[in-house]
Amino acid sequence: MPELPEVQRAADSLAAQVLGATIAGLQALDWPRALDGAAPDWFAEAIRNRTISAVGRRAKWIVVTLDAGWWLAIHLRMSGRVSVVPATTAADRHTRWQLRLVDGRLIQFDDPRKFGRLRLLDAAGLAALDAAHGIEPLTPAFTVAALQAALAARARAIKPLLLDQQRIAGVGNIYADEALWRAAIHPRQRADQLDAPAWLRLHEALVAVLRAGIAHGGSTLRDYRDAYGQPGAHQHEFRAYGRAGLPCERCTTPIVRIVVAQRGTHLCPRCQPCPD
Ligand SMILES: [Zn+2]
Repeated sequence: MPELPEVQRAADSLAAQVLGATIAGLQALDWPRALDGAAPDWFAEAIRNRTISAVGRRAKWIVVTLDAGWWLAIHLRMSGRVSVVPATTAADRHTRWQLRLVDGRLIQFDDPRKFGRLRLLDAAGLAALDAAHGIEPLTPAFTVAALQAALAARARAIKPLLLDQQRIAGVGNIYADEALWRAAIHPRQRADQLDAPAWLRLHEALVAVLRAGIAHGGSTLRDYRDAYGQPGAHQHEFRAYGRAGLPCERCTTPIVRIVVAQRGTHLCPRCQPCPD
């Protein structure tokens, strides 16, 4: 599933192509549930002739700013892919919708698993989306103290807390495993038992792995592409995720895979000693 780095790259690559473009209409909608309950006719009418003035990201949502106080929010979920394609591009069997632009191009959404979503938000809707998510880890507000304020009081394992979008926005299974390996913290370590140096290491590790993910164009395990159709390369930089049986790059102990809060979890049993 795309996480913060992948969604950021998708948003940036979309922005580079469509800023200033005007939407002509919605077409090729083969999966109306992608609209999250909005009536397709209403949706198509509401977005027509709106101009795209910005494309950003909030948590794992791509947020497209339109004129007149409207926003489009796109969630890639498991397998979604947004791209900008020529007008002549035909929808294929995984295409869930296309936004036709006045200049003739299409913003196309392909999604084999069909979990992706497209919402049209007014200011209140945007505020609700914002309020549903925690602090953004690549903003100046994300200090060590802010990380501790979000998580440290909890008598729960650190990994599921990192995945809780209401606490920290954008971190998913891959980058949580990578950050905990880098910080040498066991994923089952209780947050309320982490010491001050560990919080410092975890903060540094989260920022580092997310920035590295963005720098490498995100991670592509299977479906992820940016809005130019390019896969990421950060999957070649993993130190823990998906590396069960391979030597830890710090200590050569084989990486192991365990399950923490129902999620496959990868760690070095020597660098990240079990808290029990
Ligand atoms: Zn190790």
